[in-house]
Amino acid sequence: MVDQETTVRSGSCLCRGVTFRVVGQPLRVGICHCEECRKTSGSTFSAFAIWPLDAFEQLTGYTSSYSGRSFCTTCGSRVASLRDDEAEIMIGSLDDPPSDLIPEYELWIGRREIWLNALPEAVQFSKDREDSDSASRPRRPGDDEPMPVPGREPPVQEPDPDRLPDEEPNPNPDENREPPMRV
Ligand SMILES: [Zn+2]
Ligand SMILES: [Zn+2]
Repeated sequence: MVDQETTVRSGSCLCRGVTFRVVGQPLRVGICHCEECRKTSGSTFSAFAIWPLDAFEQLTGYTSSYSGRSFCTTCGSRVASLRDDEAEIMIGSLDDPPSDLIPEYELWIGRREIWLNALPEAVQFSKDREDSDSASRPRRPGDDEPMPVPGREPPVQEPDPDRLPDEEPNPNPDENREPPMRV
């Protein structure tokens, strides 16, 4: 039962043997640079959207799966990965490009190719999404002020020249990675 206001998106594999649809808006949209996403896609990252499982319906075709990731048995295209309560859909398998789905988070950013920039509004995770301690917003103009480190006072400037200065606190080790030079 789909009312007229509900968005229905159709998807398919390369050979069009597998077709499916997803109903309503996804729960979340992300991209991932992890090793599994690189290997299974053959690309350098994957872009996916996740719906509640009952919003997904496979209409035609045959799939096989490896490690929870489904693919068309004829053409090998990745389609959906079904879990207990969620369906992960590869954005590229949807039929009407470009989609209106914009990733709101990025995973495993340490593996991001150097020619890719962080998505400006996407929350950045060093590993999986559950690793919330590592989440950070992409850098923006005005972000150069060092963040105060909780429970640690900034080093006091002592006049004694024999005294070694305190080590500068480094609030975000990832910021030591400079982006490549642009010419
Ligand atoms: Zn196919
Ligand atoms: Zn991944």
